[in-house]
Amino acid sequence: MRYIFGPVPSRRLGMSLGVDMVPYKTCSFDCVYCECGHTTVHEKTRRRYFDSIADVLDEISSALKTGRQIDYITLGGSGEPTLNLELGETIREIKRLTDVKVAVLTNGSLITDKGVFQELLNADLVVPSLDSARQASFEKVNLPAKGILVAEIIEAQRDFVRAFDGDVWLEILIVEDLNDSEDDLIALTEAVNRINPLLVQVGTVERPGSEEWAKPVSFEVLKMLASRIGPNAMVIGGPKRTFSEDTGRDIASDILALVSRRPCTIEDIESAVGGKRPILLGEIRELSAKDKIATYMHKGKIFYVGGRGQKIRELE
Ligand code: SF4
Repeated sequence: MRYIFGPVPSRRLGMSLGVDMVPYKTCSFDCVYCECGHTTVHEKTRRRYFDSIADVLDEISSALKTGRQIDYITLGGSGEPTLNLELGETIREIKRLTDVKVAVLTNGSLITDKGVFQELLNADLVVPSLDSARQASFEKVNLPAKGILVAEIIEAQRDFVRAFDGDVWLEILIVEDLNDSEDDLIALTEAVNRINPLLVQVGTVERPGSEEWAKPVSFEVLKMLASRIGPNAMVIGGPKRTFSEDTGRDIASDILALVSRRPCTIEDIESAVGGKRPILLGEIRELSAKDKIATYMHKGKIFYVGGRGQKIRELE
């Protein structure tokens, strides 16, 4: 396959079929934490990157025909997907092909472009980033292409949340000594509240990125930022670990402890563990993939049970 990869399990999106929208490291940013290395084509100009959208759709059709579970078709890749001029047409054609939801993972910088703004309105889920609300820190962490202003991004993201019928999950990544000052955290909190997305995921550097010196901040800093933002904010900390904002505990451990005692529905888990359903379902899927949770139907309801080492059925 040339353009698609997966489906792969995603912490946030369940089973995700990825579509590579741009060539490797074509991006409007060159983030110090980028796990794909340094940006090679660093620009904010949109271009056509597919030889033909029909080829992309053929690959997606083939993946759908395998019958494997696919929760989202995710437009992303190792660069910035909104740089692809055919983003809107790609979303429209995927929607003609299938009912599977379409997610776009974006650094959020091109939402200021009217075309990108309109095209993203056709997706089901948009996951933009915002690591800093102050131009100086924004430039240190994200190294944007010339002429990209974070104040304009914040206003565009805010307008987008208001205009969009789908969900927006905002991602924030904090790097030690770059965007973690008190002034940064205050400005970021104000900006996020202004944007008002459904969910906010706050994290830090977890793996080696393009700059070795980019270091993570402590869990306490992430937790403080999430609690300042409000109940829609969650801390995503450490590899495969999501912490509850209410308890500061590892959500996966809480879920496992609960369902090991008695079979639970998702509603039971929501009320006992707390947190947003998409995040809980993502954690359940990961535990299922590791055979730590089994799933079964009883009187038309899905129950989760832990610690039995049973063969797992795919969720949903
Ligand atoms: S926006 Fe994403 S792809 Fe682009 S440099 Fe940053 S982390 Fe890498």
